[in-house]
Amino acid sequence: MRGGEQPFNAFDLLVSQARGDVLRGETAATLQANLGLRCNLRCRHCHVAASPDRTEIMGWPVMAAILRLAEALPVGLVDLTGGAPELNPDFRRFVRALCEAGLPVQVRTNLTVFDAPGQEDTPEFLAAHRVRLVASLPCYLDENVDAQRGSRTHARSIAALRRLNALGYGRRAELPLDLVYNPGGPWLPPDQAILEADYRREMKQRHDLDFTRLLTIANVPAGRFLEELQARGKADRYRSLLRESFNPRTLDGLMCRHQICVAWNGVLADCDFNLALGLGVAADLPASIDLLVPSRLPGRRIVTGEHCFACTAGHGSSCRGALVA
Ligand code: SF4
Ligand code: SF4
Repeated sequence: MRGGEQPFNAFDLLVSQARGDVLRGETAATLQANLGLRCNLRCRHCHVAASPDRTEIMGWPVMAAILRLAEALPVGLVDLTGGAPELNPDFRRFVRALCEAGLPVQVRTNLTVFDAPGQEDTPEFLAAHRVRLVASLPCYLDENVDAQRGSRTHARSIAALRRLNALGYGRRAELPLDLVYNPGGPWLPPDQAILEADYRREMKQRHDLDFTRLLTIANVPAGRFLEELQARGKADRYRSLLRESFNPRTLDGLMCRHQICVAWNGVLADCDFNLALGLGVAADLPASIDLLVPSRLPGRRIVTGEHCFACTAGHGSSCRGALVA
């Protein structure tokens, strides 16, 4: 469904009551690119249902269009995600091109990808290009990480973090390394500052590891996480929790208002969750990056749905972590 055609839903109603208008985009400070759905892992909570079997991969023509759009807007950050973005065959060419254009680049990494064949020197490549890193680590305890992401993923993640720390990531200001926590089930993340203090203490004591910030992200009922909720009969209860936890103070910072997202095939969306759900941008905008005129982004209507309550629950949630203290 395209945004202009969408009926006024329960989320729009609460947003309108709080702000006197539906959710609208502002200047796109971030351009997020989903480089494909191939991943070396097959996590239980994955909202894009990425796995080693997926074949959807962004090609160079879409990357070139992203480069042009990022320069034209201009954006303050190009945020690369997936799947495992490092597995895209044009990943390094794209990062080099973005850096040569003077665009700050951030990569969302699952850490374990660094021991995949051909990825052995990826940490050094990222450090040499001053790429900021956001790394998934849903818990500092191995049993919780392995339950969510697969056997031995915690140990492999710790080994990768050691390499990153040794390169200066999480220890030098120019090489930020943020960790991402998401709940292991259908509940909201705890207070980000308190959990960050726990992570910092435990990661130091257990592994002598450092990081820059901890970002807490709520699970959106989409993809594999939604399938699991439905299989356990918990989907309705989780949706109710999200709705009942609606916090209007989160609305200003919602990531969809400050970014535009591009799928592996060039399709545009307001956020990665909408991409996963097959929701493009509003119907009065072009569906694909090829035809997008940058000046059309500010003021556009954001395409919303029931899943949006995951971003406005409690402290709020975004790719940058909690939205309010
Ligand atoms: S959650 Fe991340 S690491 Fe896990 S399967 Fe999905 S894309 Fe891969
Ligand atoms: S899921 Fe969140 S980021 Fe995406 S459109 Fe809804 S509120 Fe915005």
